[in-house]
Amino acid sequence: MDDRPLLNRRLAGLGTTIFAEMSALATATGSINLGQGFPDTDGPREIAEAAAEAVLTGRGNQYPPGPGVPELRAAIAEHQQRFYGFEYDPDSEVLVTAGATEAIAAALLALLEPGDEVIAFEPFYDSYAACIAMAGATRVPLTLQPPSFRPDLERLRALITPRTRLLLINTPHNPTGMVLTADELREIARLAVEHDLLVVTDEVYEHLVLGVAHYPIAALPGMRERTVSISSAGKTFSFTGWKVGWVTAPAPLTAAVRTAKQYLTYVNAGPFQYAVAKALRLPDEYFAGLRADLTRKRDLLSDGLAQAGFEVFRPDGTYFITTDIAPFGFKDGLEFCRTLPERCGVVAIPNVVFYDNTEAGRSLVRFTFCKRDEVLEAAVDRLSRLRPS
Ligand code: PMP
Ligand code: GLN
Repeated sequence: MDDRPLLNRRLAGLGTTIFAEMSALATATGSINLGQGFPDTDGPREIAEAAAEAVLTGRGNQYPPGPGVPELRAAIAEHQQRFYGFEYDPDSEVLVTAGATEAIAAALLALLEPGDEVIAFEPFYDSYAACIAMAGATRVPLTLQPPSFRPDLERLRALITPRTRLLLINTPHNPTGMVLTADELREIARLAVEHDLLVVTDEVYEHLVLGVAHYPIAALPGMRERTVSISSAGKTFSFTGWKVGWVTAPAPLTAAVRTAKQYLTYVNAGPFQYAVAKALRLPDEYFAGLRADLTRKRDLLSDGLAQAGFEVFRPDGTYFITTDIAPFGFKDGLEFCRTLPERCGVVAIPNVVFYDNTEAGRSLVRFTFCKRDEVLEAAVDRLSRLRPS
């Protein structure tokens, strides 16, 4: 073979995801894994039983319909109505995907032409960079700066060019925990309408808001027709391995995303789709309980990290806390995270891998708090052995 690189130029440099690297490091070193965001307690038993029952009664064991089983599409449409007052037609405006990850990939592959520009908040969730690259488009970062990580909307306006096709937003935002306010969303929506941009909005943490409200951008004037909204059962119901996600969007956008999705996975998670339909109809107490639980865990870990010497940026949403490690005399979060297991038996995620402007994220490190209280307490105990310099 010639010496042409095997990995194509669009994917060059993307390597192994940081989540795989850090979870493998946690396993290899027996560390407490506060890196990759997955709960250490499964979601409601009745929902797990619904999945088992679907398998045993032959529901979804063979290829389900391409757009998702009708029961789940109806439940997604109902959920949008119940929480946000949206009307989406379950047949033409709802699409079930292999997690939000596939929804993001299918949306970007369907909607972008090579050379289009996509503006997204930096730090970016890592699959955004990969999918924009696979589509041959160009990412244009709007850097969120600590301590608040609020977007500079004047800067957003300045970043829009004739080549801008799409705004990719994420609220609540991974990894910073920033939640866009109604005013910020109104301004973003105004810019999208003024410049006739598409919007893809990743709202997988929609129910993980801790003392603030989540507003979907699709609700704003002029937005429904240009917005692809994405969510997933993984975070809301603590079943990240099931990989059931969905898109809600007007029929022409849903049809475009469905075209790409058909050739990525075609379908997935047949029996789990029935269980997620049941989960979406859980009573309000379930959603309130999830928020209360996570609020307590956020406070437990934020206070512990602050006491251990980290600069803590307390999040309003998600189950992640971003910290600055500068007080420890460290500048490089990647090096800090690679050596943390041997120094104190804890794994975290270096935010720098989510930046194009790496200087902006160099000393930031993310910890997840979707773990049992005793695990969080043990982690804080271990981290307290680190000494700020
Ligand atoms: N978007 C964001 C912001 C995420 O943090 C994640 C993963 N945790 C996803 C998308 C992917 O979700 P899923 O596991 O449903 O594919
Ligand atoms: N979204 C999860 C996180 O941010 C990880 C998902 C994954 O490993 N791709 O931790």
